[in-house]
Amino acid sequence: MQIGSYQAFAVPTGLFALDGGAMFGTVPKVIWNKSNPADEKNRIDLEARCLLLVSAKHKILVDVGCGESLVEKYGEKFAAKFIDMYKLDRTKNSMEASLKRLGFTYEDITHVILTHLHFDHAGGATIFRDGNLMPTFPKAKYFVQKRNLATARNPNVREKASYFKENFIPLEEAKCLEVLDGDIENLLPDISVFNTFGHTEAQQLVRVGPAAAPLLIYGGDIVPTSSHVRLPFVMGYDLQPLVIIEEKKKFLTSLAQSKGIVFFEHDPFMDGARVQQDGADFTVSEKINF
Ligand SMILES: [Zn+2]
Repeated sequence: MQIGSYQAFAVPTGLFALDGGAMFGTVPKVIWNKSNPADEKNRIDLEARCLLLVSAKHKILVDVGCGESLVEKYGEKFAAKFIDMYKLDRTKNSMEASLKRLGFTYEDITHVILTHLHFDHAGGATIFRDGNLMPTFPKAKYFVQKRNLATARNPNVREKASYFKENFIPLEEAKCLEVLDGDIENLLPDISVFNTFGHTEAQQLVRVGPAAAPLLIYGGDIVPTSSHVRLPFVMGYDLQPLVIIEEKKKFLTSLAQSKGIVFFEHDPFMDGARVQQDGADFTVSEKINF
């Protein structure tokens, strides 16, 4: 799909699962279970879907999924527990396989924008290669927000299980991590980042096109699935539910006006959507598959 001056591709990196109750916060199970049926452990399927933006000069990835080399990163025992608990399944899709299908390799990627360093977004940033943990994309410059890096280094008790130093320390050691401080207009041609604070400290969302008329916004963990387009659908994981609702309202309003696309990182059924205002709330007006 053409988005401005970029060819845009969805890059699914594999399914995982999280507790349905945690994904939908105060929304009752009788409602969310219809669209996202829970398994025997009450988990719902989620995709770890990244966005690839390609121009003549750039091949830009937004987020990188849960990644591989779990045994080398976390140890055999914890890796097994991790795979079981989160139902990690890369049999259908992985970063490597999805890029290959599109005709690209790890070496082709020029930039990686990490929305935040939770493992399901940044786990794929590093890989075990030649006996060491190192950047997965050897030629890429990686971007992260300063305040998110700080919280990842020293996580609060609620987020401790989501931030692992193995996913970002090797980037710092390889000197390929560029730390951003705040919103940046045109970080890359036609691509801007803006900070949000409802989900975690300084999650940067990515916008293609101007603020007044966005073509696409990467919803990250502010609008992880199509169900979360609805304003009260807020995850139990989020640090500041009321803040997230305001953040969501602001960028969904601009997308509804510009008929731009919100990209869903975690929706198991669709890559993105156009949205419309529905009274004081929002709904999906058109499903988009790239
Ligand atoms: Zn997150």
